[in-house]
Amino acid sequence: MIDTHAHADTRPSEDFEQMALAGMTDVLTLAHDPMKMSSSVVFKDHFERLFDERARAGKSGVRLHVCLGLHPRTRPGDLPACLALLESYLADNNRPVTAIGEIGLETGNAFEVDMLQRQIELGIKYKLPVIIHTPRTGKMQMTREIISILSTFSLDRDSVVIDHADADTVKLIVDRGFNAGLTIQPGKLTPAQAVEIVKKYDPARLVLNTDMSSNPTDVLGVARAAHAMRLAGIYNVIVEAVSTKNAWRIFRLKI
Ligand SMILES: [Zn+2]
Repeated sequence: MIDTHAHADTRPSEDFEQMALAGMTDVLTLAHDPMKMSSSVVFKDHFERLFDERARAGKSGVRLHVCLGLHPRTRPGDLPACLALLESYLADNNRPVTAIGEIGLETGNAFEVDMLQRQIELGIKYKLPVIIHTPRTGKMQMTREIISILSTFSLDRDSVVIDHADADTVKLIVDRGFNAGLTIQPGKLTPAQAVEIVKKYDPARLVLNTDMSSNPTDVLGVARAAHAMRLAGIYNVIVEAVSTKNAWRIFRLKI
């Protein structure tokens, strides 16, 4: 199984062991806002930390895949330098970046929209998937706004995950040909809610994750949701698609 959205830098090593025991082989760890991300210097330290985490998770048998980006809750004072820094990592073939993320909108102000657009451009330039955050507040409105921004670009919609989808926004996302991320976490989706969504929508367009962070977290959220799907009688081929195979396709992971 694959957790397609996590913040491994916030979690203890014991969590990776728990995940490995539950059958988790691969985890995407995304850049976020673990501190006040005030400048490109802070972003560089954060990005380096994410690469360092690969060895820590690897000791428990979990492969970490690094995703880099400027989270919409950040407002660095030197945005052009931050974007140049991000691009320098994307251009470095020695340490592959799996996707751009997490990026997105939090309140939808002009700064966030500009930062999102610049990063979508980088995703297109470097042929990388993008993982897009939607906020808790105003989720439907922000999801619409994100889709309208994405629609101004010529891009492969299968390389876009619009994340933290809920029962209302998932239809909007998959109907437009994008992938929807289902976040199994206290306060987001429960395993039972994920079951209902998977029953209703095209399973090829859905991926699971925990968004594990220092906020309330269930590190076994993906495994728990997959288990709930099997108990609900969902075919194994569908459970495998949403918990593993779709992520292989979208993020072009290599064994
Ligand atoms: Zn996140």
